[in-house]
Amino acid sequence: MDYLPVFLRLADQTTVVVGGGGVALRKVTWLLQAGARVTAVAPALDAQFASLEPALRAQLTHVSAAFSASHLAGAVAVVAATDDRETNTAVSLAARARNIPVNVVDDASLSTFIFPAIIDRSPVIVAIGSGGSAPVLARRIRAQIEALLPARLGALARYLGGQRLAIHQRLGKLARRAFWERVTAGAVATRVLAGDEAGADLALQRELSAARLLGREPTGARAIGEVYLIGAGPGDPDLLTLRALQLLQQADVILHDRLVPAAILERARRDARRIFVGKGRGDAGQQERILNLMIQLARDGQRVARLKGGDPLVFGRGGEEAQALRAAAIPCQIVPGVTAALGAASAAGVPLTQRGHARSVTFVTGHDSNMAAADWAFLADPAHTAVFYMGIGELTRIVSRLRAAGAQPSHPAVIVERASLPGQRIARGTLADIAAQAATHGLEPPAVLIVGAVAALADDEAVGLLAPAAAVTGPAGSARAPVAA
Ligand code: SAH
Repeated sequence: MDYLPVFLRLADQTTVVVGGGGVALRKVTWLLQAGARVTAVAPALDAQFASLEPALRAQLTHVSAAFSASHLAGAVAVVAATDDRETNTAVSLAARARNIPVNVVDDASLSTFIFPAIIDRSPVIVAIGSGGSAPVLARRIRAQIEALLPARLGALARYLGGQRLAIHQRLGKLARRAFWERVTAGAVATRVLAGDEAGADLALQRELSAARLLGREPTGARAIGEVYLIGAGPGDPDLLTLRALQLLQQADVILHDRLVPAAILERARRDARRIFVGKGRGDAGQQERILNLMIQLARDGQRVARLKGGDPLVFGRGGEEAQALRAAAIPCQIVPGVTAALGAASAAGVPLTQRGHARSVTFVTGHDSNMAAADWAFLADPAHTAVFYMGIGELTRIVSRLRAAGAQPSHPAVIVERASLPGQRIARGTLADIAAQAATHGLEPPAVLIVGAVAALADDEAVGLLAPAAAVTGPAGSARAPVAA
């Protein structure tokens, strides 16, 4: 380790920045934001300095002069940010002679400290350094870490900080640590991170009573767990939301079904238990068993991620599960996912609505039992887009229903099989030939059927028209041959 990362308290301390350009301004801004007083030494300051907020600006003093060592009097840190190496060297020598930490921008050899790449979720601060050797890499790492950190992390730290004293008065030393561990990664934290502090207060009270109970009878009641109903999207792990990733990293148990691919399960915490709860068609009892299992696990104090394909509230029974959890007083958080219709539309380059083509869109299940109730005249209007889920086995029936309701044989249609997954295939046609295409190419679930004028806008390349022999219909690595429309 060539550098020791530390956090400097600079409030009301004097710091010096030599230089008056854009680079100097960035360092000046960091120092001011950390509460320091800054003396900027430069013959002139760039016009951009005027854009500093007035409150920050008030802590900045401009010394209009060429650098001399006397400017360092009283300084606790110095930054040289001129584009003149001679000046930068003079600043570095003068500072080191006085034992003042010095940073020379982009010159680690003249520096005794360096600025890390920073993620600021104050009071939480993450600093990333590469010892000055690869600042661009450090910034990239910052972006990757930033994606994993909830946006409201600072609010969570403030919330917990605000409870500290009260908790310490109410819990003994032994109980405290376990308590904070549960609270920082359980129902209390998820509520604060979702912006619901009232809900967090309730959860905190529950945790507190559980912790007291535990203190008295160590084998007794456990703190209550919670359930995350997470939409996993259409299959590509990169289409998970940031919150889905964060909660997958936190869950103790993952309940998943058939539509969730292994590549997504791999993003979950390594030591989380994974339970497959996929149900065969018509297995009504299974849904009941899943519910009971979820409730049981949560009552045992587990954080349960119920991972569902697409969005949990679109043809996914997530609504029923959320209701049942509410009835059982189990805290539940719903995380939206990219539903199959949206994943398929992007894959095929079909705009679900577009001026002059379609003003509205309906997601409808092609499942036999629900079809009779659909408003077929509405779905058959080409100025309206209809996306049929679970419809691949019912294709001929859907087509004849649409035709009977007035749709023309030329009514455009697209089928997207395995949207966003390896082996994705897309067929484009019309009501006259789409069922035959599906049969010829052996299209299988999971797939959606998109009908309406917009279906004709499907991207030629995605459909495979431009290169019928190459595997261009799917994402990279796609194994299957394309389907010509
Ligand atoms: N909750 C899910 C839908 C579950 S119903 C969502 O919001 O997407 C299951 C149906 O979704 C499948 O029969 C299929 O029609 C559709 N589906 C799910 N994943 C798909 C994918 N990757 N490509 C195409 N269709 C998909």
